[in-house]
Amino acid sequence: MGDMRKGYVSERFMIVTKKDDKVVDPNKFPYAPGNESMTNPSVLSLVAREGMLQRLQDNEDEYVKNWSIRVFESKNPIVSIESENSYSERPFYSEPAYGYHYIVVATPNKKDTFATIDIEQWSNVLVVVQDRLRWLYTQKGVTYVSIYGYHGELAGNTNPPPHLHLLTFSTIPPIIEEEAEASHKILNEKGVCPMCQVINEETAGPRQVLQTEGFIAFCPWSPSYPYEFWVSPKKHTTSFSKITQKEINDLSLILRSTLGGLSKTIKNVSYNLVFHLSPEKKNSRQIHWHLEIYPITKPWSGLERGYGIFLNDVSPEQAAEKLGAACRKELAKLVGIT
Ligand SMILES: [Zn+2]
Ligand SMILES: [Zn+2]
Repeated sequence: MGDMRKGYVSERFMIVTKKDDKVVDPNKFPYAPGNESMTNPSVLSLVAREGMLQRLQDNEDEYVKNWSIRVFESKNPIVSIESENSYSERPFYSEPAYGYHYIVVATPNKKDTFATIDIEQWSNVLVVVQDRLRWLYTQKGVTYVSIYGYHGELAGNTNPPPHLHLLTFSTIPPIIEEEAEASHKILNEKGVCPMCQVINEETAGPRQVLQTEGFIAFCPWSPSYPYEFWVSPKKHTTSFSKITQKEINDLSLILRSTLGGLSKTIKNVSYNLVFHLSPEKKNSRQIHWHLEIYPITKPWSGLERGYGIFLNDVSPEQAAEKLGAACRKELAKLVGIT
């Protein structure tokens, strides 16, 4: 479909997508129940029946109804396995934007957000994401699987209900490559994982937002965005695809609490949520996986766009104090209910 191009001299990637006029109108809520025919058939529809979750999928002419989570290939994919060959060399570097693009709809309810769905639903979503991630890594030409979601108009979400994108690349995205290379270098030189060290330093410090049994949320020392925070397993883990159901439940609790707290702290908040996971190919550099949440509170200035230097008028210490108070309240409510 599209081309992945690099700059004349820089390593920065961009994708030229082809505009498809047939693409469905998001204002018609194609991801909502009743509009299943507006999307590709599901490869998985989770349906609660008699207290059990059944794993079903759409047939050619029959759509599974009453689903609680639905997974299908995007009708407007950013990458595709039907790419034509379009390799070329610098200064006009280009490679096919080859890959798979799946959508995981996290709830049938249009009014729900990532900050309102319950912990159990979050756990089911994470299990579904984990399954799809494992499957994607068995496919040809998949070097990296990116997982991301968004909330709010400033973050580009005009298409409820809330959903996550799973998008694969035949190359490792530059930010992951950079984190993995830097981690590897520090691990080699000092014998410790830098993220483990960070967690050690940030635990109970002025930038901690929340802790659960196995996870910690904190505002990073040099955040690009006001109220940016990261969620990371406390113990050294490089693979999200291997975490247990118990760890998934714990992750759901901290995600739901922190996203709930963020929504209480900033009215009508918009944010991006991204998974930073290790590439799962043999011999690839690993990272201590984590999630990063970027609230979008203001447009970028020329400094951000032109120089890559981020201006932030809320210090991470101030942000952590406010977020911490709101997130602890959310956590208390959730634990009280469950
Ligand atoms: Zn680590
Ligand atoms: Zn990261």
